[in-house]
Amino acid sequence: MPEGPEIRRAADRIEAALGGARLLRVRFGLPALQGQAHRFEGARILRVDTRGKAMLTRFDNGLSIYSHNQLYGRWQVVAAGERPDTRRQLRLALEGERWHALLYSASDTAVLDAAGEAAHPFLSRLGPDVLGDLDALQVRDRLLRPEFRRRRLGNLLVDQSFVAGLGNYLRCEILFVAGLRPERRPMDLDDTTVDRLARAIIDLPRRSLRTGGITNDEARALALMAAGADFEQARFHVFRRAGEPCYRCGTPIRMERKGGQACYFCPQCQR
Ligand SMILES: [Zn+2]
Repeated sequence: MPEGPEIRRAADRIEAALGGARLLRVRFGLPALQGQAHRFEGARILRVDTRGKAMLTRFDNGLSIYSHNQLYGRWQVVAAGERPDTRRQLRLALEGERWHALLYSASDTAVLDAAGEAAHPFLSRLGPDVLGDLDALQVRDRLLRPEFRRRRLGNLLVDQSFVAGLGNYLRCEILFVAGLRPERRPMDLDDTTVDRLARAIIDLPRRSLRTGGITNDEARALALMAAGADFEQARFHVFRRAGEPCYRCGTPIRMERKGGQACYFCPQCQR
């Protein structure tokens, strides 16, 4: 599933292609929304906001189109008139004069006005966007709140009401950088460790956004790629590296399933 940085990058591509542009047409793939399409004829895209893994495309008619990619959704920006060679279902097409932004496979889309956004069941329970106006001190305070401090980190980090935008790869990578096993809880950690965890929660999503998906140390990832590793092999500290040696200590990375999702960690560096 795309996580906060991947959704923000998709939003940036859509903004670059269609921001400020009047749309000739909006098409909805889901029959329930097709009756709304006429409301967007000639509407201008003001900006594309993201809240965690959700996207809100804002229009000058007071409406926003909400979309959540879930597991399979994928955005593509193409020149007007082109269509990617895909068998995926087209769910949403934002068609400008020169560029089209196309959302495939995602079934979770909606047209919202301000009241609808405030009442939206997913948006209304989201915590602060991990890529938004949030700093390590605020994350530290959140970790120590009564409703969060007793939770296991492996579960807490991907709870979108704690912070919005973390998924499985960011969870694994943050826990490695913080030196913590997924079963640890904020209430059991000393101040220095809580600070280190809060710092990693702020830093790694931003690094991933800036680098196109690298959470590994950037110098190491570049050196690995210069030595022949491909991007997927080089980008992570531990994620999808089960059985391979930890870059810090050489111990084989371990994988355990937590709540259905694979959790990768170094048994030596993470305690
Ligand atoms: Zn290690």
